[in-house]
Amino acid sequence: MFDLKCKREGCTYNKNCRCSAKHITIEKVANCQSYTPSEDYKKTEKSTITQKALRTNTIVDCKVAGCLFNHGGSCIANGITVATKTNTNEPECLTIKQK
Ligand code: SF4
Ligand code: SF4
Repeated sequence: MFDLKCKREGCTYNKNCRCSAKHITIEKVANCQSYTPSEDYKKTEKSTITQKALRTNTIVDCKVAGCLFNHGGSCIANGITVATKTNTNEPECLTIKQK
């Protein structure tokens, strides 16, 4: 999918609130398992969406069986948004929709 917005700061794949990873996995509790801490935290993006053109076609595998967009372990949504869950500080898929 091309439309993967992410507000998670400190991830090496976050470029202007767009995910630049080629392949990510969303865990059972909808957390992004592919989050990888950046070596240079100061260079990572803040949560303001500048929407610089970045067109990474990211394959999204997903382990949330109860989500409407989960088709055989792959996310078939046109796009998803990932943000930091306040209580756990984990990057979480907000596009989840229960069947
Ligand atoms: S937390 Fe996940 S969705 Fe967000 S930029 Fe990192 S790998 Fe991509
Ligand atoms: S929208 Fe649903 S299927 Fe797609 S990544 Fe999020 S939880 Fe998984």
